[in-house]
Amino acid sequence: MIWKDGRLLSSGKILPGDRIYHGMRIWDPAHSKVAALCHIHGEPPVKDACILYLGAASGSTVSFLSDYAEIVYAVEFSPRPARDLIRLAHERTNIIPIFEDARHPERYLPLVEMVDVLIQDIAQRDQADIAIRNLPFLKPGGHFILFLKLLSMGIEKKKEELTAEVLMQIKTAGIVDVKVINIDKYHSGHVAIWGSH
Ligand code: SAM
Repeated sequence: MIWKDGRLLSSGKILPGDRIYHGMRIWDPAHSKVAALCHIHGEPPVKDACILYLGAASGSTVSFLSDYAEIVYAVEFSPRPARDLIRLAHERTNIIPIFEDARHPERYLPLVEMVDVLIQDIAQRDQADIAIRNLPFLKPGGHFILFLKLLSMGIEKKKEELTAEVLMQIKTAGIVDVKVINIDKYHSGHVAIWGSH
């Protein structure tokens, strides 16, 4: 990936609102959890990869991923951000927008190929379940990255307890070499869970 003077950059088409450094887009860790992960821990293998991204919103992070990846399948179920996502996909050749609920991967099964990287950024109580339901799309050896918003999982349990429960769930589902990365510095109350299939 492209780094210059401590900034993560990408060389795709500049979009309205982008900040620019040396003629390239700045991928800001405060605005994207994937960029935060790159800054805090290390780069996921997104270059030339096939990616399934759950919780695409209007496609901000997806646009940066598409600057690096071969193809990004981007799932979003809210109509307003999905409209922006579809608009973005018109301008790029490698974003496939999917206006669907990620709880029902069977609905987009015919549209998505097996992917190298599965990324989820969905702040819902059942966020780990949703990611696990989408595991059949991930190739053996593929990377699984789940951004967990602990507050969305209820306030009645401690963060450590919630994280431990999710770890148990995803390990049972077949994810190995799991790391928990605190990205609180840029995204309050979030951890990234990164493992392989
Ligand atoms: N990943 C985005 C980015 O960095 O540009 C921000 C994602 S935002 C935190 C979470 C998104 O997940 C929201 O747009 C929400 O509508 C979407 N979402 C929540 N539950 C979903 C579901 N079951 N299926 C699809 N999208 C969902």
